[in-house]
Amino acid sequence: MLNRRQFLSAAASAAAFAGTTRRAETQAARYDLIIRGGRVIDPSVRLDATRDVGISGGRIAAVEASIVADADDTIDAHGKLVVPGLIDIHTHTARSAEGPRLVLQDGVTGWIDAGSQGADHIADPIAVARSAPQQGRVLINIGRAGILGEGDTMNLSLADVGAARDAIAKNRDFIVGVKARLSQNVVGANDVEVLRRSQEVATSFGLPVMIHMGQTMSPFSTLVDLLKRGDIVTHMFAPPPNSIVDDRGHILPAVLAARRRGVWFDIGNGQTGHMRWDTIDAIMKAGFWPDTFSTDWNANSRRTGVVDLPNCMSKLLGYGMTLSQAVARATVNAARIFPLFNDRGTLNVGAPADVAILELREGTFEFLDNYKNTITGRQRLFPSTTVLGGRRIPRA
Ligand SMILES: [Zn+2]
Repeated sequence: MLNRRQFLSAAASAAAFAGTTRRAETQAARYDLIIRGGRVIDPSVRLDATRDVGISGGRIAAVEASIVADADDTIDAHGKLVVPGLIDIHTHTARSAEGPRLVLQDGVTGWIDAGSQGADHIADPIAVARSAPQQGRVLINIGRAGILGEGDTMNLSLADVGAARDAIAKNRDFIVGVKARLSQNVVGANDVEVLRRSQEVATSFGLPVMIHMGQTMSPFSTLVDLLKRGDIVTHMFAPPPNSIVDDRGHILPAVLAARRRGVWFDIGNGQTGHMRWDTIDAIMKAGFWPDTFSTDWNANSRRTGVVDLPNCMSKLLGYGMTLSQAVARATVNAARIFPLFNDRGTLNVGAPADVAILELREGTFEFLDNYKNTITGRQRLFPSTTVLGGRRIPRA
């Protein structure tokens, strides 16, 4: 039993609650955009259900079973997936002025250009990132001349600590890490020294290093031992020599230790030398799943085995990965790696309204590795519509 004072107080708060509810309904009676009836998969809040998504003022305003309200624009998403805007942490989007708009069509609302340029020409990718419609940032290549056909740091003097530090100091807002490409055809026998110099640069700014692994001179254990919490290994499915798995199917102890101390493992699909189905099979069977998907995107990707990020996200569905686990690796997981994506990778109410609407098609699909081998899958994700900052992006 409530005494009179408790009753009055309870009644007053109930009335106040009803009042605020009514006010909220009135205010939200009209949205800028409603995405109706899609299967919303948002691993950041463990949601996988049919929902309407209401957007106002560039932010997610409501995610509900049914929104009874009007909107200036409506997207019918019945039969489609509605997921947080995709984040691709290894691309070369900033190599071309049109890159950002091309990946935006694929649902990519945030990207990292991973080492297309070094200190000498860092202004070029930064200019592209600065004028991109979505969030884009760059990793500086430790090789001051950037990606070279003859090898970025085959000539060790190109791994110039002073030049990289100067470039970062002048561009703190756009350089978010250091990229070191360590394959033998890029560094020769300089892999350990190039990585050591990359860490020297990165740690002085509190930034991560992303290493491009695979086909290195040094054993992978030697290299991964030099990585700190927050660093990233890309091309984690690279076949031998020096992959992350031994020939008996065991993940290297140094790799397990690296994951335990907070090193991230990323796919970096790419086109040559970075993934082969038998290596992927061994690594997936060992239970060492990637933290993030990324494309290693280039302007020609659509004509290669990469195609787009949704295609790369589809490749492990046949290895027991659920749709929700695949979406996490291109949204919330990717958002955790770089602070600029802190409020992204989620459809939580209040978050910036970056949304990827995808189609999940059933059928027979061929997926390519980097060695012209194919596997067949029964499901594939296709980009449908992108919403950036609450606005629907017109299809090109
Ligand atoms: Zn790359």
